[in-house]
Amino acid sequence: FCLLQNQQVLGESICFSSNNMGKGKIFIDGVEGGTDSMGNTYYSRDEMWKNELDRADPTSEKGWYGKGIKYWEDVPASVDGVLGGFGHVTDVDLEESELFYQTLLREGHLKLTEPGRAADCGAGIGRISKGFLCNHFKAVDLVEPVAHFLQTAEKELSGFNDGNYIQIGLQDWVPQQGAQSCFVIFLHLDLNSLASYRLSLLGLYDVIWIQWVIGHLTDEDFVAFMMRCKRGLKEDGVIVLKENACTEGFIVDKEDSSVTRSAVYLEGLCKAAGLSVVAQ
Ligand code: SAH
Repeated sequence: FCLLQNQQVLGESICFSSNNMGKGKIFIDGVEGGTDSMGNTYYSRDEMWKNELDRADPTSEKGWYGKGIKYWEDVPASVDGVLGGFGHVTDVDLEESELFYQTLLREGHLKLTEPGRAADCGAGIGRISKGFLCNHFKAVDLVEPVAHFLQTAEKELSGFNDGNYIQIGLQDWVPQQGAQSCFVIFLHLDLNSLASYRLSLLGLYDVIWIQWVIGHLTDEDFVAFMMRCKRGLKEDGVIVLKENACTEGFIVDKEDSSVTRSAVYLEGLCKAAGLSVVAQ
């Protein structure tokens, strides 16, 4: 998918409401049950998330995020490692990404402004930055929670990337916004009007690239993260989500603590974040 900012937050079949605990609940039409890698079946997303999240604090070693990090910490910092033994697909993957990127430019979905900046989310060892994003952007910020991957990425990209290496999970990452625009607005407006203009402050990124990682985020964190990404974009910037999808429902991977969602499920969460698909 490629997703663009969209002011229309509520789609027809997707909306937010509150449950008894006062936490936002995300409804998506067309997603029923699913399975997991142990052969268990779930009647609903709710049942699956209750099962996954009620057992331990998500950040603890036994929790949803803790288990995911633990899994990747034991994986070698290599292309084959981050691609789960499918290292041979990397060339085709990068070529396809290049073609998609060119389509976005050609069709006017993405308009670049100088100096170009991209984010590589769940960057691993910087495979995508090295093979694709750094060819197009002066600075690529790599966001990755696993230390030995990020260190490898920094070594691999040294000398041809002006971006930052940020060790954090996407559930906690807040894409930077433009401090310069804040300063300019401050000079030109009185304090009363500043509040309303703050909302239209633009982000720093032309492209926020999210590939083979979003399955690590819970539904709530997925939506909240996408909303933050939206605010992190420049005016004509885009979010690109490249992900494996199952044909229906979802499949939980108990080993690396991730969930493969159907295309309907992925799109439903993006719509819940106020994004619409502009190219596929
Ligand atoms: N996108 C890269 C790496 C894919 S492997 C590529 O295509 O080459 C999945 C990556 O997601 C790993 O580097 C893993 O450490 C990272 N990851 C796992 N949980 C994450 C989380 N909660 N937030 C951000 N990244 C995460």
